Amino acid sequence: MRSCRDITALVSQGLDKQLSLGERLAIGVHVMMCSRCRNFQSQAHFIRTTAHTYLERLQDESEKKS
Ligand SMILES: [Zn+2]
Repeated sequence: MRSCRDITALVSQGLDKQLSLGERLAIGVHVMMCSRCRNFQSQAHFIRTTAHTYLERLQDESEKKS
């Protein structure tokens, strides 16, 4: 089983791009057993839908710096 760190990273990536079937399965299996990552996932989706514009602005800023 993947670590919580892997799963939270995958969930974050999944907000920006389409994950592979294997990645989505790994998240699905993990969050069934891990309430911490389940909370992270629901918060991540909440943040995405409510503050998407804000996050995009943050990404623009970090792209300018790099
Ligand atoms: Zn976990």
